[in-house]
Amino acid sequence: MKSFRSGAAAAFLCLTICPAGAQAPEPNGAGVRAGTLPRSWHPSGPRCADKPAFEINAYNDDLFILRESGCSNYEKPFLFLLFGKDKALLLDTGAGKTDVAPVVQGVIDGWLRRNGRNAIELIVAHTHAHGDHIAGDADLAKLPRTTVVAPNPGAVQTFFNIHNWPVEASTYDLGQRVLDIIPIPGHEPSSIAIYDRQTAILFTGDTLYPGRLYVHDAAAFASSVQRLVDFSRGKIVAHVLGNHIEQTRTPYLDYAIGTVYQPDEHPLELGRAQLLELNEALKGMSGQIRRMALRDFTIWPEP
Ligand SMILES: [Zn+2]
Ligand SMILES: [Zn+2]
Repeated sequence: MKSFRSGAAAAFLCLTICPAGAQAPEPNGAGVRAGTLPRSWHPSGPRCADKPAFEINAYNDDLFILRESGCSNYEKPFLFLLFGKDKALLLDTGAGKTDVAPVVQGVIDGWLRRNGRNAIELIVAHTHAHGDHIAGDADLAKLPRTTVVAPNPGAVQTFFNIHNWPVEASTYDLGQRVLDIIPIPGHEPSSIAIYDRQTAILFTGDTLYPGRLYVHDAAAFASSVQRLVDFSRGKIVAHVLGNHIEQTRTPYLDYAIGTVYQPDEHPLELGRAQLLELNEALKGMSGQIRRMALRDFTIWPEP
């Protein structure tokens, strides 16, 4: 009991005095708000008829992870819904023909009920502008008290008050929940990463996830990954969460493009170790990005 108390005290000290501590002094959760991720996702199959359009995972009471069914769209993208005291943020809106707005509204209604609230403002932003991340924008824009940030670098820069794109980060406060917004163009010009200080989750979009990391602009991609490494140095990183799973649980083996049913897929969550591994691989290519399979993901230059 004594050692537990001293550990908790050390963690509290670190959170108040040295919030940039790269490591926690004790293996006691590092003072970040914890949550749970499913051991496996089941978004599609073996029978599509049994599957809802979105699988919903409550990471904790204020963070929900939605995964679109592969039966709706093989991309099976993830969407993230974060609640602060004043605002909620939806990160991405799905792929293909998607009826995401009522699903998001349902999660919001449940949160409002549990918190004894009548309404909360909703911000809809995107990890980047590819079609499999913005398909529900028009429907979501019709929800009450909702602002959809247009998926282009200018609008993202203006909304999040980023002065010097892409080299400067900014912060955005949902109400006692501060997010860091980090521009990471390279996969796509308007790509951003978001670091949630409350859960210490780093959301990386399609720039880092267990699958094929499509590199559109090699120089920008390499610079962005280096900036993510620099940004996260000295910070607790509980999980790195991207927006797809294309990797199997077998090292160096992915599912073919277009696979709907993935019964043995890799977990969604990665850690900062994979970010360092990606950065090291890119640096080793000296600007000449080539396809390279690593244990948990593949670097994949676009022609
Ligand atoms: Zn993409
Ligand atoms: Zn994508």
